Amino acid sequence: KKRGEEPLAPSFTPERFKEIVSGKSTKIKPLLLNQEYVVGIGNIYVDEALHRARIHPETGAKALTSSQLDLLHHAIVATLTEAVNAGGSSVKSYVNGQGESGSYQHQLLIYGRKDQPCASCGTLIEKTVVGGRGTHYCPSCQPQAGISK
Ligand SMILES: [Zn+2]
Repeated sequence: KKRGEEPLAPSFTPERFKEIVSGKSTKIKPLLLNQEYVVGIGNIYVDEALHRARIHPETGAKALTSSQLDLLHHAIVATLTEAVNAGGSSVKSYVNGQGESGSYQHQLLIYGRKDQPCASCGTLIEKTVVGGRGTHYCPSCQPQAGISK
């Protein structure tokens, strides 16, 4: 079975990320969790990266602009780098981080913070299910695409 890009490898450039995402008719969150595209981001870090990039987790991959994908690429790399640093160990600490966030937990901005105020805007964080996974997002910072505020 085809294995996806390793997100902390030098080959995972913004250009490569855009190639992966382009033309996919799925929501962005399940795409990021699909190991055939990108390996080992994990549910917690997908939520964190989407929040940083201010992208709603149910946004269609096709609807994302080039600048949004640049932001998201940067957010993924930054989030995972911080998680690895916080764990003080190898890349495995986030690969195995599907349910455990270890010492990075106190740095999480969105995951597990349902009904707590968003650090950026104070709006209460919401929780929903996307692609079968518990999903946290700020409805103000991450408005659903196509819905004007
Ligand atoms: Zn917010």
